[in-house]
Amino acid sequence: MVCAILVLESRSTMANENWALRGNLLDFTGEPAWAQVQSPQVRWRPDHWLLVRGHRIEAVQAEPPGPDWRRIDHGDRLVMPGLIDTHVHAPQLDVLASYGAELMTWLHEYTYPAEARFDNERIAHDGAQRFIRALLRHGTTAALAFSTVHEAATDALFAAAHAQGMRLITGKVLMNRHVPPQLQDDVSGAEQACRRLIRRWHGCGRLAYAVTPRFAPTSTEEQLAMAAELLRDDPSLYLQSHVAENQAEVQWVRELFPESRSYLGVYSSRGLLNRRTVLAHGIWLDDEDRSRLQAAGATLAHSPSSNLFLGSGLFNWRQAREAGVRVCTASDVGGGTSLNLLRNLAAAYQVQALLGQRLTAWSALHSVTLGAAQALCLDQEVGRLEAGCTADITVWDWAQDPALEHRLALTRSLHERVFAWLMLGDERLLRSVVVAGRVAPDIA
Ligand SMILES: [Zn+2]
Repeated sequence: MVCAILVLESRSTMANENWALRGNLLDFTGEPAWAQVQSPQVRWRPDHWLLVRGHRIEAVQAEPPGPDWRRIDHGDRLVMPGLIDTHVHAPQLDVLASYGAELMTWLHEYTYPAEARFDNERIAHDGAQRFIRALLRHGTTAALAFSTVHEAATDALFAAAHAQGMRLITGKVLMNRHVPPQLQDDVSGAEQACRRLIRRWHGCGRLAYAVTPRFAPTSTEEQLAMAAELLRDDPSLYLQSHVAENQAEVQWVRELFPESRSYLGVYSSRGLLNRRTVLAHGIWLDDEDRSRLQAAGATLAHSPSSNLFLGSGLFNWRQAREAGVRVCTASDVGGGTSLNLLRNLAAAYQVQALLGQRLTAWSALHSVTLGAAQALCLDQEVGRLEAGCTADITVWDWAQDPALEHRLALTRSLHERVFAWLMLGDERLLRSVVVAGRVAPDIA
């Protein structure tokens, strides 16, 4: 019922005119080869027009549109699909840049107290609004996000995304042990809350539900079994969690699940690993784990700024890729230090450099556009600038200060230019964000 009312409200504010946007269009037709700066999967369409009718892209063309199309001319600016964050925590804006802790201490000292405050309806509502607007202001138009353990806070998050017409996949966090008592749920109460949330929000507009066990140590066998049952009952649900982020955490999982072959094995042997599973991190995996991920078609959400900030480890992207595992790049705020995915891609480049590898701008940007859309089974809707797709679009300045402008002027190829922009740019270069055909007012 809630959903139906919101849809009507949201439609009344949707753009219903035809309009066209001009700029330099960059997106991908497939996954660029590793470490190749010349890639046939890069689609570069300079000085093109994107025609938008209602909430969809109607056409992409070099010729200016006719007089019945309102024109927005972005000149030389860079136009890309809206960015997609495959792992982020809505309540954790409150703990960004918290000093001096590795994962387990960070959770207990900063994160759990912050998440406990979302028990308060006003705090949860304001937090949800702040988070959704912050995503848009950083160029992210779609996300797979953790809420908190609270049903009402999860409702608030869905509602905030829906009001913006935004593609959001989220779910109530499941955790019934090893967390402070005020954050613990119980199996049957959690199951009922999940089923109510799924009924209210899954498939409502652009929203979808993700079954969200925080990570293996905070759920009992019974709760993991309940999560698997939810997935069996509705195969269109997503599953999000964490895996093998930090060595102490991996050791703890070994003690808690002594019969399990590995941390990943806890999920795979309990029916939690499938094509719609997205697991954050996956730094400390072995060949067998990677092979199970590949066989399931599951995704790793590499979270480089978080891994560097918490000192969790260096994710070997190339190794995962060679094993056929799908990899996206995510912010993991608040372990990560920025919601802006360009900042996280710069961190990803540095992580790979420490491993003796080089990440191209193409592999990087693909992992937060088409690659992320494919990981979420949404590539018919988002991640591309193509007729028929929903018009989720970002427009970026190349530079705003003379030093960056000077640096870009010295580049000799498209890859050099985009790479320097990616390494040196951030959300301050963002000029416009379009969500489902509507220019987001906070950005314009
Ligand atoms: Zn996380």
